[in-house]
Amino acid sequence: MPALSLPLERYISDPRLLPLADKVRREERLSFQDGLLLYESPDLTGIGAMAHWVRLRRHGLKTYYVVSRRMSYTNICYTHCQFCAFQAKPGDPKAYVLSAETIVKEMEKPENAGVRELHMVAGHYPKLKIDYFEDLFRSLKRRFPDLHLKVFTMVEMDYYARVSGLSVEAFLDRCVAAGLESCPGGGAEIFDEELRAKICIGKKDANVWLEVAELCHRKGIPTNCTMLYGHIEQPRHRVDHLLRLRALQDRTGGFLAYIPLAYQIEDNELGRTYEIHETTGHQDLREVAVARLLLDNVPHIKAYWVMITEGLAQIGLSYGADDLDGTIIEESIAHDAGATTPQALSKGELQRLITKAGFEPLERDNLYKIYA
Ligand code: SF4
Repeated sequence: MPALSLPLERYISDPRLLPLADKVRREERLSFQDGLLLYESPDLTGIGAMAHWVRLRRHGLKTYYVVSRRMSYTNICYTHCQFCAFQAKPGDPKAYVLSAETIVKEMEKPENAGVRELHMVAGHYPKLKIDYFEDLFRSLKRRFPDLHLKVFTMVEMDYYARVSGLSVEAFLDRCVAAGLESCPGGGAEIFDEELRAKICIGKKDANVWLEVAELCHRKGIPTNCTMLYGHIEQPRHRVDHLLRLRALQDRTGGFLAYIPLAYQIEDNELGRTYEIHETTGHQDLREVAVARLLLDNVPHIKAYWVMITEGLAQIGLSYGADDLDGTIIEESIAHDAGATTPQALSKGELQRLITKAGFEPLERDNLYKIYA
């Protein structure tokens, strides 16, 4: 249905949402209070209709995906995030570090033919310094010149710059010269300082995350942005987080996409310390919709099937999302924490999910260039 003819009032049952619908139609920015109402109102259908209206206005039925591969060059980590089941300490039997040669060999395997984007995030391991990353990126680019390298959370970049004895800017410049092209949006977790101290002890604070993202954008390196929800945070923390992302995007325009990340409950300290339940479908769809409504300056909203299941991600396309992320291939961070989704989806499966929901599948690269 064309965006402008979607009769929003017909879908809204909570009258408190009607002034927000007027703002949405006038393309007016929603406030902090509006954000709180979006979390408070039981009217998910109404919220979803508003988000869908925005999605249709921005993208019509176009729905994006990428043929991508995940890899983590090490799981050894000296930081201690209570929600993480992926980390290993040195000496742990499951600890590993991958050499550049191993990663190149892995990418040569037939199952990686057609991969356009290599997405790498990993632990914080002080033995890896700038030389390791320069060698890794150069080796990959020599063998696969067209492979897009999307590497480092913002806190990871800050960490590896520090252990390399470099400023973040100098570290970034050298990585870009070696082949780094963009960064994923992880490591943001939840920006609220008090909560951050409880869920990711030792991880750098929100200001560092935002400053490094700003630096990347200033240097012409686009990034994504994320929020980890469904743990001990409250709606006010989520609205605060989203509006901090929006404020940075006003300054830089460097975020390509926002990805709401559902907390995975298994095998991590956070789940053992607090009584936390798995996120529900209602909550997952609301996160997609609220993001589409509050992040009026971020082009794309992803429904990340790895964490919320393929079926719910597909429904998310009618709640504000325009991107299903990608084939992924071998995701380990969410799966170690209990995600029960498959390790990968084929291109055909992604296309089918999109088409069956009434949308138009488009294969993209990391910068949203479309492949015919
Ligand atoms: S989330 Fe990342 S930084 Fe935190 S413990 Fe796990 S691997 Fe380390």
